[in-house]
Amino acid sequence: MATAAQQPSEQPEAPEGHHQAFEESDGWLTRTEVLSRIIYWGIHAACLLVFVVGAPVEAVLLCVTTYFVRVLGITGGYHRYFAHKTYKTGRVMQFIIAFIGCSATQKGPLWWAGNHRRHHRLSDQPGDPHSPKDGWYHSHQGWIFDPQWEGTPTDVIQDFAKYPELVWLNKNHWVAPLSLAILCALIGGFPGLVWGFVVSTTLLWHATYFVNSLAHLWGTRRYVTTDTSRNNLLIALTTCGEGWHNNHHYYPASARNGFFWYEIDVTWYVLKALSWVGLVWDLKTPPEIILNGRNGKQLVRNATSKNAEKAAA
Ligand SMILES: [Zn+2]
Ligand SMILES: [Zn+2]
Repeated sequence: MATAAQQPSEQPEAPEGHHQAFEESDGWLTRTEVLSRIIYWGIHAACLLVFVVGAPVEAVLLCVTTYFVRVLGITGGYHRYFAHKTYKTGRVMQFIIAFIGCSATQKGPLWWAGNHRRHHRLSDQPGDPHSPKDGWYHSHQGWIFDPQWEGTPTDVIQDFAKYPELVWLNKNHWVAPLSLAILCALIGGFPGLVWGFVVSTTLLWHATYFVNSLAHLWGTRRYVTTDTSRNNLLIALTTCGEGWHNNHHYYPASARNGFFWYEIDVTWYVLKALSWVGLVWDLKTPPEIILNGRNGKQLVRNATSKNAEKAAA
Protein backbone atom coordinates (compact mmCIF):
# COMPACT_ATOMS: atom_id res chain seq x y z
CA MET A 1 0.00 0.00 0.00
CA ALA A 2 1.36 3.42 -0.92
CA THR A 3 1.99 5.98 1.79
CA ALA A 4 0.27 9.36 1.79
CA ALA A 5 3.56 11.14 1.16
CA GLN A 6 4.14 9.48 -2.20
CA GLN A 7 3.58 11.48 -5.34
CA PRO A 8 1.21 9.99 -7.93
CA SER A 9 4.02 9.40 -10.38
CA GLU A 10 5.93 7.40 -7.78
CA GLN A 11 3.12 5.02 -6.96
CA PRO A 12 3.72 1.40 -7.77
CA GLU A 13 1.32 -0.59 -9.90
CA ALA A 14 -1.39 -2.34 -7.89
CA PRO A 15 -1.30 -6.14 -7.74
CA GLU A 16 -3.50 -7.46 -10.53
CA GLY A 17 -5.96 -9.16 -8.18
CA HIS A 18 -6.51 -6.06 -6.06
CA HIS A 19 -7.15 -3.84 -9.06
CA GLN A 20 -9.60 -6.33 -10.51
CA ALA A 21 -11.54 -6.80 -7.27
CA PHE A 22 -11.91 -3.07 -6.80
CA GLU A 23 -13.16 -2.40 -10.31
CA GLU A 24 -15.72 -5.16 -10.11
CA SER A 25 -17.17 -3.66 -6.95
CA ASP A 26 -17.21 -0.16 -8.35
CA GLY A 27 -20.90 0.51 -7.84
CA TRP A 28 -24.02 -0.30 -9.81
CA LEU A 29 -24.36 3.19 -11.29
CA THR A 30 -20.86 3.20 -12.78
CA ARG A 31 -21.19 -0.28 -14.19
CA THR A 32 -24.55 0.22 -15.81
CA GLU A 33 -23.58 2.43 -18.69
CA VAL A 34 -27.09 2.79 -20.12
CA LEU A 35 -28.57 3.78 -16.78
CA SER A 36 -25.91 6.42 -16.17
CA ARG A 37 -26.64 7.93 -19.62
CA ILE A 38 -30.37 7.95 -18.87
CA ILE A 39 -29.74 9.72 -15.55
CA TYR A 40 -27.31 12.22 -17.12
CA TRP A 41 -29.53 13.23 -20.04
CA GLY A 42 -32.70 12.85 -17.94
CA ILE A 43 -31.45 15.48 -15.49
CA HIS A 44 -30.68 17.76 -18.47
CA ALA A 45 -34.22 17.30 -19.81
CA ALA A 46 -35.69 17.86 -16.34
CA CYS A 47 -34.27 21.42 -16.41
CA LEU A 48 -37.31 22.24 -18.57
CA LEU A 49 -39.38 21.87 -15.40
CA VAL A 50 -38.39 25.49 -14.62
CA PHE A 51 -41.16 26.40 -17.06
CA VAL A 52 -43.58 24.54 -14.78
CA VAL A 53 -42.37 25.75 -11.38
CA GLY A 54 -41.30 29.27 -12.42
CA ALA A 55 -38.44 31.00 -10.65
CA PRO A 56 -39.28 31.53 -6.95
CA VAL A 57 -36.52 33.59 -5.29
CA GLU A 58 -35.86 30.99 -2.54
CA ALA A 59 -35.48 28.22 -5.11
CA VAL A 60 -33.07 30.26 -7.27
CA LEU A 61 -31.03 31.16 -4.17
CA LEU A 62 -30.92 27.48 -3.27
CA CYS A 63 -29.58 26.81 -6.80
CA VAL A 64 -26.83 29.41 -6.37
CA THR A 65 -25.92 27.97 -2.95
CA THR A 66 -25.80 24.30 -4.02
CA TYR A 67 -23.87 25.32 -7.16
CA PHE A 68 -21.09 27.18 -5.36
CA VAL A 69 -20.80 24.82 -2.37
CA ARG A 70 -20.42 21.88 -4.76
CA VAL A 71 -18.05 23.72 -7.11
CA LEU A 72 -15.83 24.14 -4.05
CA GLY A 73 -16.29 20.45 -3.23
CA ILE A 74 -14.98 19.61 -6.70
CA THR A 75 -12.22 22.23 -6.99
CA GLY A 76 -11.02 22.42 -3.40
CA GLY A 77 -11.84 18.77 -2.62
CA TYR A 78 -11.76 16.33 -5.54
CA HIS A 79 -9.20 18.35 -7.48
CA ARG A 80 -6.78 20.23 -5.22
CA TYR A 81 -6.95 17.74 -2.33
CA PHE A 82 -7.63 14.23 -3.65
CA ALA A 83 -5.99 14.53 -7.07
CA HIS A 84 -3.04 16.78 -6.18
CA LYS A 85 -2.65 16.74 -2.36
CA THR A 86 -1.92 20.48 -2.31
CA TYR A 87 -2.82 20.78 1.40
CA LYS A 88 -3.46 18.59 4.43
CA THR A 89 -6.51 17.97 6.58
CA GLY A 90 -7.84 15.52 9.18
CA ARG A 91 -9.63 12.26 8.43
CA VAL A 92 -13.13 13.50 9.36
CA MET A 93 -12.73 16.69 7.30
CA GLN A 94 -11.35 14.56 4.46
CA PHE A 95 -14.58 12.56 4.40
CA ILE A 96 -16.76 15.70 4.62
CA ILE A 97 -14.86 17.22 1.68
CA ALA A 98 -15.28 13.96 -0.27
CA PHE A 99 -19.01 13.84 0.49
CA ILE A 100 -19.60 17.45 -0.65
CA GLY A 101 -17.61 16.76 -3.84
CA CYS A 102 -19.56 13.54 -4.37
CA SER A 103 -22.88 15.42 -4.15
CA ALA A 104 -21.86 17.14 -7.44
CA THR A 105 -22.88 13.87 -9.18
CA GLN A 106 -19.52 13.36 -10.89
CA LYS A 107 -18.97 9.84 -9.50
CA GLY A 108 -16.80 9.00 -6.51
CA PRO A 109 -13.65 10.76 -5.21
CA LEU A 110 -11.26 7.90 -6.07
CA TRP A 111 -12.63 7.58 -9.61
CA TRP A 112 -12.51 11.35 -10.19
CA ALA A 113 -9.10 12.02 -8.68
CA GLY A 114 -7.56 8.87 -10.21
CA ASN A 115 -8.67 9.79 -13.71
CA HIS A 116 -7.47 13.35 -13.16
CA ARG A 117 -4.01 12.06 -12.25
CA ARG A 118 -4.06 10.12 -15.50
CA HIS A 119 -4.87 13.41 -17.27
CA HIS A 120 -1.82 15.12 -15.79
CA ARG A 121 0.50 12.21 -16.47
CA LEU A 122 -0.35 12.06 -20.16
CA SER A 123 -1.93 15.45 -20.94
CA ASP A 124 -2.99 15.62 -24.59
CA GLN A 125 -1.12 12.38 -25.36
CA PRO A 126 -2.45 8.84 -25.89
CA GLY A 127 -3.74 7.65 -22.50
CA ASP A 128 -5.18 11.05 -21.48
CA PRO A 129 -8.83 10.29 -20.63
CA HIS A 130 -10.14 13.63 -21.93
CA SER A 131 -7.92 15.41 -24.43
CA PRO A 132 -9.66 17.73 -26.93
CA LYS A 133 -7.30 16.17 -29.50
CA ASP A 134 -9.83 13.29 -29.46
CA GLY A 135 -12.62 15.77 -30.23
CA TRP A 136 -14.31 18.50 -28.25
CA TYR A 137 -17.34 16.38 -27.34
CA HIS A 138 -15.12 13.56 -26.08
CA SER A 139 -13.07 15.88 -23.85
CA HIS A 140 -16.19 17.59 -22.51
CA GLN A 141 -18.43 14.65 -21.60
CA GLY A 142 -18.07 11.76 -24.07
CA TRP A 143 -15.14 10.20 -22.17
CA ILE A 144 -17.29 9.73 -19.05
CA PHE A 145 -19.42 7.19 -20.91
CA ASP A 146 -16.46 5.46 -22.54
CA PRO A 147 -16.14 1.98 -20.95
CA GLN A 148 -12.35 2.44 -21.03
CA TRP A 149 -12.57 4.99 -18.21
CA GLU A 150 -15.48 3.42 -16.36
CA GLY A 151 -13.67 1.73 -13.47
CA THR A 152 -11.71 3.42 -10.70
CA PRO A 153 -7.96 3.47 -11.54
CA THR A 154 -6.84 2.13 -8.17
CA ASP A 155 -3.23 1.90 -9.31
CA VAL A 156 -2.89 5.71 -9.32
CA ILE A 157 -4.99 6.50 -6.23
CA GLN A 158 -3.74 3.97 -3.67
CA ASP A 159 -2.85 6.71 -1.20
CA PHE A 160 -6.57 7.40 -0.68
CA ALA A 161 -7.91 3.92 -1.50
CA LYS A 162 -6.52 2.81 1.87
CA TYR A 163 -9.40 4.60 3.65
CA PRO A 164 -12.44 2.27 3.85
CA GLU A 165 -14.87 5.19 4.20
CA LEU A 166 -13.62 6.68 0.91
CA VAL A 167 -13.83 3.29 -0.82
CA TRP A 168 -17.41 3.00 0.45
CA LEU A 169 -18.33 6.48 -0.80
CA ASN A 170 -16.63 5.82 -4.13
CA LYS A 171 -18.61 2.61 -4.55
CA ASN A 172 -21.90 4.13 -3.40
CA HIS A 173 -21.43 7.52 -5.03
CA TRP A 174 -25.18 7.91 -5.61
CA VAL A 175 -25.78 8.36 -1.85
CA ALA A 176 -24.48 11.96 -1.71
CA PRO A 177 -26.46 13.34 -4.71
CA LEU A 178 -29.61 11.54 -3.58
CA SER A 179 -29.24 13.01 -0.06
CA LEU A 180 -28.85 16.48 -1.56
CA ALA A 181 -31.90 16.04 -3.82
CA ILE A 182 -33.99 15.02 -0.80
CA LEU A 183 -32.65 17.96 1.23
CA CYS A 184 -33.52 20.41 -1.58
CA ALA A 185 -37.06 18.99 -1.74
CA LEU A 186 -37.43 19.31 2.05
CA ILE A 187 -36.20 22.92 1.97
CA GLY A 188 -37.99 24.22 -1.11
CA GLY A 189 -40.56 21.63 -2.16
CA PHE A 190 -40.74 20.74 -5.87
CA PRO A 191 -39.29 24.10 -7.05
CA GLY A 192 -36.46 23.57 -4.54
CA LEU A 193 -35.73 20.14 -6.07
CA VAL A 194 -35.82 21.50 -9.64
CA TRP A 195 -33.59 24.54 -9.00
CA GLY A 196 -31.47 23.37 -6.05
CA PHE A 197 -30.63 19.99 -7.54
CA VAL A 198 -31.61 19.56 -11.21
CA VAL A 199 -30.63 22.98 -12.65
CA SER A 200 -27.68 23.42 -10.30
CA THR A 201 -26.26 19.96 -11.09
CA THR A 202 -26.54 20.52 -14.85
CA LEU A 203 -24.78 23.91 -14.66
CA LEU A 204 -22.13 22.40 -12.41
CA TRP A 205 -21.48 19.52 -14.81
CA HIS A 206 -20.77 21.82 -17.71
CA ALA A 207 -18.76 24.34 -15.69
CA THR A 208 -16.51 21.49 -14.52
CA TYR A 209 -16.30 19.87 -17.95
CA PHE A 210 -15.36 23.18 -19.58
CA VAL A 211 -12.08 22.91 -17.67
CA ASN A 212 -11.35 19.64 -19.50
CA SER A 213 -12.53 20.88 -22.89
CA LEU A 214 -12.41 24.69 -23.31
CA ALA A 215 -9.49 25.31 -20.92
CA HIS A 216 -7.37 23.24 -23.33
CA LEU A 217 -8.63 25.19 -26.37
CA TRP A 218 -9.52 28.79 -25.53
CA GLY A 219 -7.41 31.27 -23.56
CA THR A 220 -3.84 32.42 -23.08
CA ARG A 221 -0.69 30.47 -22.32
CA ARG A 222 1.70 32.05 -19.82
CA TYR A 223 3.88 28.98 -19.40
CA VAL A 224 5.40 26.63 -21.89
CA THR A 225 3.95 23.20 -21.13
CA THR A 226 3.84 19.98 -23.12
CA ASP A 227 0.01 20.13 -23.18
CA THR A 228 -2.50 22.60 -24.65
CA SER A 229 -3.68 24.07 -21.30
CA ARG A 230 -4.82 27.69 -21.22
CA ASN A 231 -5.72 30.44 -18.75
CA ASN A 232 -9.30 31.65 -19.13
CA LEU A 233 -10.94 34.27 -16.87
CA LEU A 234 -14.50 33.25 -17.72
CA ILE A 235 -13.87 29.63 -16.72
CA ALA A 236 -12.01 30.84 -13.61
CA LEU A 237 -15.07 32.84 -12.53
CA THR A 238 -17.59 30.04 -13.08
CA THR A 239 -15.40 27.37 -11.45
CA CYS A 240 -14.00 29.37 -8.52
CA GLY A 241 -10.48 29.47 -9.93
CA GLU A 242 -9.99 26.41 -12.13
CA GLY A 243 -9.78 28.50 -15.31
CA TRP A 244 -6.11 29.28 -14.58
CA HIS A 245 -5.45 25.93 -16.15
CA ASN A 246 -2.14 26.73 -17.82
CA ASN A 247 -0.78 27.89 -14.44
CA HIS A 248 -2.12 24.67 -12.96
CA HIS A 249 -0.57 22.37 -15.55
CA TYR A 250 2.75 24.17 -15.11
CA TYR A 251 2.73 23.84 -11.32
CA PRO A 252 -0.03 21.40 -10.22
CA ALA A 253 1.34 21.02 -6.68
CA SER A 254 -0.06 24.45 -5.74
CA ALA A 255 -3.28 24.88 -3.71
CA ARG A 256 -3.57 28.20 -5.50
CA ASN A 257 -4.28 28.26 -9.25
CA GLY A 258 -4.53 32.05 -9.66
CA PHE A 259 -0.83 32.86 -9.25
CA PHE A 260 -1.25 36.65 -9.09
CA TRP A 261 -3.59 38.96 -7.17
CA TYR A 262 -5.59 39.77 -10.30
CA GLU A 263 -6.20 36.11 -11.11
CA ILE A 264 -9.41 35.54 -9.16
CA ASP A 265 -9.32 32.16 -7.43
CA VAL A 266 -12.21 31.81 -4.98
CA THR A 267 -11.21 28.22 -4.10
CA TRP A 268 -7.86 29.53 -2.87
CA TYR A 269 -9.55 32.24 -0.75
CA VAL A 270 -11.82 29.60 0.83
CA LEU A 271 -8.90 27.22 1.49
CA LYS A 272 -6.96 30.09 3.06
CA ALA A 273 -9.94 30.98 5.30
CA LEU A 274 -10.31 27.30 6.30
CA SER A 275 -6.61 27.26 7.23
CA TRP A 276 -7.13 30.26 9.53
CA VAL A 277 -9.66 28.26 11.57
CA GLY A 278 -7.45 25.16 11.52
CA LEU A 279 -9.64 22.90 9.37
CA VAL A 280 -6.92 22.54 6.71
CA TRP A 281 -3.19 23.21 6.85
CA ASP A 282 0.14 23.08 4.98
CA LEU A 283 -1.27 24.81 1.90
CA LYS A 284 1.32 24.60 -0.87
CA THR A 285 1.96 27.67 -3.04
CA PRO A 286 4.17 28.24 -6.07
CA PRO A 287 7.78 29.15 -5.24
CA GLU A 288 9.00 32.72 -5.83
CA ILE A 289 10.71 31.74 -9.03
CA ILE A 290 7.30 31.00 -10.58
CA LEU A 291 5.47 33.87 -8.89
CA ASN A 292 7.98 36.56 -9.86
CA GLY A 293 6.08 38.26 -12.63
CA ARG A 294 6.51 36.41 -15.87
CA ASN A 295 9.89 34.99 -14.93
CA GLY A 296 8.50 31.49 -14.87
CA LYS A 297 7.86 31.69 -18.58
CA GLN A 298 11.22 33.30 -19.26
CA LEU A 299 12.94 30.61 -17.23
CA VAL A 300 11.32 27.95 -19.33
CA ARG A 301 12.36 29.79 -22.47
CA ASN A 302 15.92 30.24 -21.22
CA ALA A 303 16.10 26.60 -20.25
CA THR A 304 14.75 25.62 -23.64
CA SER A 305 17.19 27.86 -25.51
CA LYS A 306 20.09 26.60 -23.35
CA ASN A 307 19.08 23.03 -24.17
CA ALA A 308 18.88 24.00 -27.83
CA GLU A 309 22.36 25.59 -27.58
CA LYS A 310 23.68 22.45 -25.91
CA ALA A 311 22.12 20.30 -28.59
CA ALA A 312 23.61 22.53 -31.31
CA ALA A 313 27.10 22.50 -29.73
ZN1 LIG B 1 -5.93 19.87 -18.15
ZN1 LIG C 1 -5.22 19.05 -11.95
